[in-house]
Amino acid sequence: MPLIIITGLPTSGKTTRAKQLHAYLSSRIASASKSPSTPAYRLHLISDATLSIPRSVYDLSPAQLPAHVRSANAAEKDARAALYAAVKRALSPRDIVLLDGLNYIKGWRYQLFCEAKNARTPSCVLQVGCPVDRARAVNESRLERRERRRRKARERENGDGEGAARPEGKEEGRDNDDDRDDDDDEEPYEPSNWENLAFRYEEPNPMARWDSPLFTLVWEDDEAQTRAVFDKIWDAIAGEGRKPVKPNQ
Ligand code: ADP
Ligand code: MG
Repeated sequence: MPLIIITGLPTSGKTTRAKQLHAYLSSRIASASKSPSTPAYRLHLISDATLSIPRSVYDLSPAQLPAHVRSANAAEKDARAALYAAVKRALSPRDIVLLDGLNYIKGWRYQLFCEAKNARTPSCVLQVGCPVDRARAVNESRLERRERRRRKARERENGDGEGAARPEGKEEGRDNDDDRDDDDDEEPYEPSNWENLAFRYEEPNPMARWDSPLFTLVWEDDEAQTRAVFDKIWDAIAGEGRKPVKPNQ
């Protein structure tokens, strides 16, 4: 496709699913290719993280913005332009582009759909479904982890980190181990930014051309269900279900 637009609330599991889908597609491409040197498709994963776009660009409160940024809206527009250019550069009938991001604005998804059409390649949307409270809780635990790390850094700077009194029952070095075991290294959203993004989120509509075909995975979906959905995506973009795309349709 092939453009696969991933969408969902902030901290709802989009990147987790994007990585799973990337691994799945890599192996499908390998088995669909005649030889490793001539793969049937090239695969690209594009996200805020791959383009080094910080969470703060989505923040509408001016106080949260870095000094060099023009205005809250302009920062997000610049980020969208960078994402759009990256997608456009990669997109072709032989390049599968996975766009991992909020993609929460209907008009933005429409623009991406048109871009895929121009490149004569299909597009689809994968919605990552997650209850609002659970997604918020993920962000809250990332905020707590950031706070813990900042506190430790301050303690180290003040030289009282290692020898500082520990709460009863805490073994020495336990906090560090907690952070090391945690392979989730993503930045949190500021709470007001998170609430705002969740409020502004525009659900995909399977009846809209630009949101279809629409595939959905929810938090609880296990490996078998995830694989079944990925199989359907593959079919729509690269298998029998793939329809020819006319740019002016
Ligand atoms: P997003 O990209 O939407 O911000 P992430 O994929 O980074 O979200 O996921 C946020 C956190 O939730 C991660 O720590 C991840 O391990 C966890 N997570 C995501 N999806 C699931 C799931 N389906 N089941 C259990 N944990 C999940
Ligand atoms: Mg993510």
